[in-house]
Amino acid sequence: PSVFASVVYTPPDVIFELTKKYLTDPAEQKVNLGQGTYRDENGSPWILPCVRAAKEKIRDVNHEYLPILGLTSFRTLAAELVLGRESTALIEKRVASCQALSGTGAIHMAGKILYNALGSQTPVYITNPTWSNHRQVFASIGFLVREYTYYSETAGCLNMETVTQALNEAPPGSIFIFHVSAHNPTGCDPTQEQWKDIATIVQDRGLFPIFDAAYLGMTSGVYDRDAYAIRYFVEELRLEVAVCASFAKNMGLYGERVGLASIITRSPQEATAVESAFEQLMRAEVSNPPAFGARVAAAVLEDGELRAEWARNLTKMSSRVEEMRWALFDGLKKLETPGSWDRIVKQGGMFCLLGLTPEQVVEISIAGLNWGNVQYVAECIDQTIR
Ligand code: PLP
Repeated sequence: PSVFASVVYTPPDVIFELTKKYLTDPAEQKVNLGQGTYRDENGSPWILPCVRAAKEKIRDVNHEYLPILGLTSFRTLAAELVLGRESTALIEKRVASCQALSGTGAIHMAGKILYNALGSQTPVYITNPTWSNHRQVFASIGFLVREYTYYSETAGCLNMETVTQALNEAPPGSIFIFHVSAHNPTGCDPTQEQWKDIATIVQDRGLFPIFDAAYLGMTSGVYDRDAYAIRYFVEELRLEVAVCASFAKNMGLYGERVGLASIITRSPQEATAVESAFEQLMRAEVSNPPAFGARVAAAVLEDGELRAEWARNLTKMSSRVEEMRWALFDGLKKLETPGSWDRIVKQGGMFCLLGLTPEQVVEISIAGLNWGNVQYVAECIDQTIR
C-alpha cells in the first residue's frame, strides 16, 4: 500500500473557496463579501500611498539574508508602534520580539513559546465565533483549544456576561486570545471600561493574554486608539502578555507576510531568554524571515512624512468602511427590509455579522462594498429575507 494511504482528505478553507467561486462566476453583477481584504471605491486592491513611496525609497536594496530574528529596524519600530514610544516595558528592556510571517506567523511563534513554557495541559481559550485559523494554529501546536461565547446573537453585540464567566472559570494559567480591535467576525470590541474589567480578572486569576493585533488602526483610523487594550495591560497593570501584530491589513501588505511577535516579560533577563528562544524557533522553521515587506514597513515607520501619510491612509480606509456600513444600513431601511439592522452601524472594523441564518449568509466583509454596489447588496439581502 501507499505510504500516504492513511492521509485523510481535508476540504479546503471555505473563505478561499468562496473567492475562487466568485472569480469564476460569469455573472455581470457580482460582489465578493467574503474576503478579509480591503478594497477601494472601485472594488480593487489598494496600494497605500505611504507604501508606494516606501517602495521607491528601498528600490535599490540588496537581497541578502536578514538576521534570524528579522530586520532590526523593523523590530524596533514595530515594537514601539505596538506598545507606544513611551512604553516602560521597552525602556526597561522587558520586550522580546521576533519578525514573523504576518499575524498568523506571529500567533504561531508566540504559541510555540507558550507551549514550551506552560506545557501541553494548558488550555487555550478562543472566542466563539472567531477567525477560523485560531483553533487550527493552536491545535497544531498541540494545545487543547476551548471556546467561550463572545457574542450575543439576539442583541448583536459583545456578551460581557459569558466573557466574564469564561475568565472566572478557566483554570489559572490558561491562555486567552483577545482580538485587540475589530473582532473578527463580530465587529464588536469591548469598551475601555470593559477592557479594564477583563484585565482585572486576567490579573487576579493569573491568566495569560495573547493579543491578536491584526487590525490596529483599521477600526477607529488611529493606531494608538485601537491599541488601548495592549497599553492598559502592559503599562497600567504591568502584566506579562504576548502581542501578535500584523501589517497585512493596516499597510495593505497582505502577501508580503510582515508581522511581529512580541512577548512582554517581568524582567530584562526573561526577555533576553525569550528572545533567544524565538531565535531558536525561527532558525528551525524559516532560518531567515522574508525581507521585502519588513523593509517597506520600516521605511514607512522611520520617516516622519511617510508615517503621517500612513495615518491619513488608515483614516481613509476606516472611514470608507464606516461610510459603507451606513450606506448599507440606509439601503435596508429604505427597502423596509424586515429585521433590526442597527448592528451594521454599531459594529466596527471590516466585518459585520448580519444576523441572517446560515442558509441566508453568515458574515460579510464591508470592505467589499462601494457606492457602485451597495444598493444592489441591500436589495439582495432584502430579497433573501422576504
Ligand atoms: N487574526 C485575525 C483575527 C485575522 O482576521 C487575520 C486575517 O484575516 C489574522 C489574524 C492574520 O492575518 P495575516 O496572517 O495575513 O497577518
